[in-house]
Amino acid sequence: MINVTKTYLPSFDEYTAILKRAWDKSWITNNGELVQELELKLKHYLGVPHLLFTSNGTVPLQMALKVFNIKKEVITTPFSYVATTNSILWEGARPVFVDIDPHTLCIDADKIEAAVTEDTEAIMATHVYGIPCAIEKIDSIAQKYRLKVIYDAAHAFGCTYNGSSLLSYGDISTCSFHATKVFHTGEGGCIIAKEDGVAQQLLLYRSFGHLGDDYLSIGINAKNSEFHAALGLCNLPAIGEIIAARKQVYLEYNNRLKLKKIQQPEFAKNADYNYGYYPVIFESEKILLNVREALLKNGISTRRYFYPSLNRLPFLNNFQHCPISEDISSRVLALPLFTSLRTEDINQISCIVNELV
Ligand SMILES: *Cc1c(COP(=O)(O)O)cnc(C)c1O
Repeated sequence: MINVTKTYLPSFDEYTAILKRAWDKSWITNNGELVQELELKLKHYLGVPHLLFTSNGTVPLQMALKVFNIKKEVITTPFSYVATTNSILWEGARPVFVDIDPHTLCIDADKIEAAVTEDTEAIMATHVYGIPCAIEKIDSIAQKYRLKVIYDAAHAFGCTYNGSSLLSYGDISTCSFHATKVFHTGEGGCIIAKEDGVAQQLLLYRSFGHLGDDYLSIGINAKNSEFHAALGLCNLPAIGEIIAARKQVYLEYNNRLKLKKIQQPEFAKNADYNYGYYPVIFESEKILLNVREALLKNGISTRRYFYPSLNRLPFLNNFQHCPISEDISSRVLALPLFTSLRTEDINQISCIVNELV
């Protein structure tokens, strides 16, 4: 069986050697030594001033909305993982979907302004597959209407834009370190804030809103453990190798697939990509379903990522039409991509795809 992804793991001995430091101290959570070390190293790697290691990549989206007191409308993308929309709903705000750019698959910044109302408080956009949103345009709209910008940068670890980490943009960026992501800690994530005061508040939120005996604000439990931090400390030094191995797979697909028959998202020129996904957009949903079935018969799994378009979620109470996102999400499929995917597997997958397109 070839899965759509396979978790990169360090050697077990390397992992336990790092974990032993926590073991020896009998300190396995609550801002332990390994969590602190991982945060320092991540800040350095990403070049950001404030970063908090969190339990996953979803709670930080909720914390971001909370810290800016967002309660009304949030302009957001329909082409993302369900966590993006859910975080808005969970915080009691209203998602206002703006359709996507058919090339980058990120929110179409040229359509944002028309969706701004008196109730708009924030823009929450996703750098889809690590492709940068139209950051400058979004910034200028946000300035004009005094909106907060929150990026769901769950796919963007190791990606850069204009020479800086893609995670350094926006008032807040969040990332996921889930086992299926390019850099992972098993479960985990982070939240990155631009301003000192915001970072201070997020630190409080992360552990119940209190510092010792001082109960200062509302809070939640978004902490992560030494077990997860240890995995991160093992994986971070390997990130260059991981991305290089993924790039190799990516290029091998490019060489084999009939790219004239398959549309792919467009990557920005002034950006580095982390090769997190290999999305292909077929000419029709019918072809997608045929390809998916043929691959599955050969023990190869793929993922409809993202499907459905989030404006179609059945629990939303008003329907907002996003024709481009709905169309693309019906035709896009992520092919297997992980560091240990073999050339012969890429060959087989490509042959099956090529026959059906
Ligand atoms: C993975 C992912 C998340 C959720 O991250 P978790 O760590 O699984 O909570 C959120 N948004 C996007 C776009 C993702 O791909």
